[in-house]
Amino acid sequence: MTRRTKVRAAMQDRLRRHDIDPTRVNINTRILWEGQSLFDGEDLVVLASGFQLPSQNEKTGDMVQVSYFVRHTPPLEALRSGKDSTVCGDCPLRGDICYVQLEQGVGNTWQSWNDGKVLDAVEADYEYLKSVEVRYGAYGDPASVPFDISSEWHGSVWTGYTHAWRYCDQRYSTLLHASVEDKDGYVLAKTMGWESYRIIEDEDERMDTEVMCLNHTNPEIQCVECGLCSGTSTRARRDIANKVHGTKYKIIRYAFLRGGLLFQVLGPAPSKTFKRLKDETIAAVASFVFDNGGGNTS
Ligand code: SF4
Repeated sequence: MTRRTKVRAAMQDRLRRHDIDPTRVNINTRILWEGQSLFDGEDLVVLASGFQLPSQNEKTGDMVQVSYFVRHTPPLEALRSGKDSTVCGDCPLRGDICYVQLEQGVGNTWQSWNDGKVLDAVEADYEYLKSVEVRYGAYGDPASVPFDISSEWHGSVWTGYTHAWRYCDQRYSTLLHASVEDKDGYVLAKTMGWESYRIIEDEDERMDTEVMCLNHTNPEIQCVECGLCSGTSTRARRDIANKVHGTKYKIIRYAFLRGGLLFQVLGPAPSKTFKRLKDETIAAVASFVFDNGGGNTS
């Protein structure tokens, strides 16, 4: 019996015993934890998906995807209102640089929970997490949850990152890589004892102490096989560099972030109106750059 078959059977048994209509339950997802965010004290909920179906994420491969949500606020609305600080902290990628597609899988997962279709994880589910590969932070920052709780949600292979490495519970360095944007951040993270994950604009920027993300070098290697981004716990400790990806717009926004230009003036968590003004400004600058021959990102 495979690991997934086993947990599937345990869920079917549970539904039968409690006389729950299986068509009203999202059997692929579980509630791992509900409580207050360590970032701002607001309510959050942690959901894990992958109990029934393999993840289709091309980069990670088949890993259980753990996401952190603001309770009772859809992810897109949380982003627009700035409430996402509950689960994202002060991550500088919040807003239009973040790669997470809030309208699709992540939004559907939250909706399913909000509709009451997701059940609490039980012992068999936590056992399952220990027997499979886990990706912390498909959406949200894992360090928003107490370390003693979330460190129980993995077995021998996991991956995860935090932008809150400067101020979070430092035991998270054993579980997560520190997300950094520049060399100053890299040096500080190393000084504090973290392994780092740095998004760079050009491969030339990679330092000798960093290895390029294996999936970037060879797309056939997925996180599920690689597992390097798992903090200091693993024997193969590595600092990772990865090339920024996404739309040209996001890439330019990231360049601004690293240059400390508009970002420092406009901030990472603007209100809806402020965000619109910021977007219009950045779109105008981006258009100017491309019109004048810049922005060769291919
Ligand atoms: S280095 Fe490995 S674990 Fe980290 S992001 Fe790349 S493929 Fe995934």
